[in-house]
Amino acid sequence: MAETKTQTKTSGDGEATSPLAVEEAKEQAQVEGESKPGQQAELSNLEIVRHYFDKAADHMGLPDDVRVVFWTPYREVTVQIPIKCTDGKIRVFSGYRIQHNGARGPYKGGVRFHPEVDVDEVRALASLMTWKTAVANVPFGGAKGGVNCDPEVLTHDELQRITRSFMDKIEKVLGPTRDIPAPDVNTNAQTMAWMMDEYGKLHGHTPAICTGKPLSLEGSHGREAATGRGCVYMFREAAPSLGLSPADTKFVVQGFGNVGSWAARIMQQLGSKMIAVSDVHGAIRNDEGIDADALQKHLASGNRITEFPGSEEVSAEDLIAVPCDVFIPAALGGMIHEGNAHRMQCKVLVEGANSPTTPAADEILRENDTYVIPDVMANAGGVVVSYFEWVQNLQHFRWDEREVNDKLGNVMRKAYREVSSRAKEEGLDLREAAYLVGIERVVEAARTRGYIDHTDHE
Ligand code: NAD
Repeated sequence: MAETKTQTKTSGDGEATSPLAVEEAKEQAQVEGESKPGQQAELSNLEIVRHYFDKAADHMGLPDDVRVVFWTPYREVTVQIPIKCTDGKIRVFSGYRIQHNGARGPYKGGVRFHPEVDVDEVRALASLMTWKTAVANVPFGGAKGGVNCDPEVLTHDELQRITRSFMDKIEKVLGPTRDIPAPDVNTNAQTMAWMMDEYGKLHGHTPAICTGKPLSLEGSHGREAATGRGCVYMFREAAPSLGLSPADTKFVVQGFGNVGSWAARIMQQLGSKMIAVSDVHGAIRNDEGIDADALQKHLASGNRITEFPGSEEVSAEDLIAVPCDVFIPAALGGMIHEGNAHRMQCKVLVEGANSPTTPAADEILRENDTYVIPDVMANAGGVVVSYFEWVQNLQHFRWDEREVNDKLGNVMRKAYREVSSRAKEEGLDLREAAYLVGIERVVEAARTRGYIDHTDHE
């Protein structure tokens, strides 16, 4: 990450400033045309996850007193992260690690750096991880972490200090058999390397403390691409019954980051054509096709998406409405909502992002016969390969990329088939069926280990 990113504000009076300085910078950026359209969801991420959980719980007749166990997380840690920034001032950030449920194994979930991170968002993402690990049937519980900061206005050194300080403050609730973080929005292999190094200062070299690490530090082949690749595996499973062939598929990506760019590059390898794409800075469209590999290189060289040659700039609102076969939301939660879902013209929605679709939007998409492959199964590829990385670390062994991708394919196909056959049996959509499968597995584990009383609910 380039040092030139520093735009932290100074007041000139030598006093410590709060993270409000970062907020001000963000507001300023929005005034200057950097607004983040699409985030007008009628519900918060927590309300979205709670809604889908309750709907499945109603269907399966889960008693209220059992439900209550899953409405709230097992453990919530909130920490203060004071950092001396490169301008000499101290800024205080808030960090969270929330462990939702560990009935099926150690807690597992990413760490997000974003100015909109708050305790409710992390709660929502943690509970989604509980259901996701269960649907994929990997032996983990669900957790999530986040720091309320804006990496767009922080230097590489400041990000390193935030990461190390965050790890120092939460390490007591982490561990390779307790809770294992991974990357999420605005964090990456470098962030995980810092986390592992900081943890190692206290506990000795412990690669299995986090996943999504660089290959040079016992990361796994295939981890970086895994979430996007998993989305593509899910689409391939669904395609024949929808009359789609990957070679003739046109797709749109909202959020060309880790998940979105890898999904695009792998779809392209199958012959599919990306016809529109966005990131936080803008959106572009070209009905003749946008080369995902070239766009990736263009952005990695520090260019803006809207400067990509040969494409027309469109608004974020219009990106939603581009007619296509597959739409892949891969940015933030709540970006498909009751105000824009009716504009969507895709046959399939593959949810790379977490909670991209509000319940009202989900209803609109159902009425319009859009086939939705929900987050809780579609984007599980990341945690599946994180599981493989953890297994390799515990054994100090390395699998080659082909082995990782083949194993990922097997897990994703199995999850798709289990969920889709359940959906058919019970007349449900994939989201309801996936939650049903996930909740059943977690409840069974929680009861069997005696975490919740077995006898009262037989
Ligand atoms: P990332 O930071 O690599 O990419 C996020 C992308 O979204 C960036 O291109 C960013 O510019 C873009 N974006 C942000 N706000 C936007 C807006 N308002 N409009 C359009 N684009 C916007 O993050 P990621 O790891 O790719 O995660 C993306 C989503 O996938 C998140 O919802 C995350 O929780 C989910 N997810 C990630 C993983 C993983 O392994 N990284 C696993 C499962 C789910």
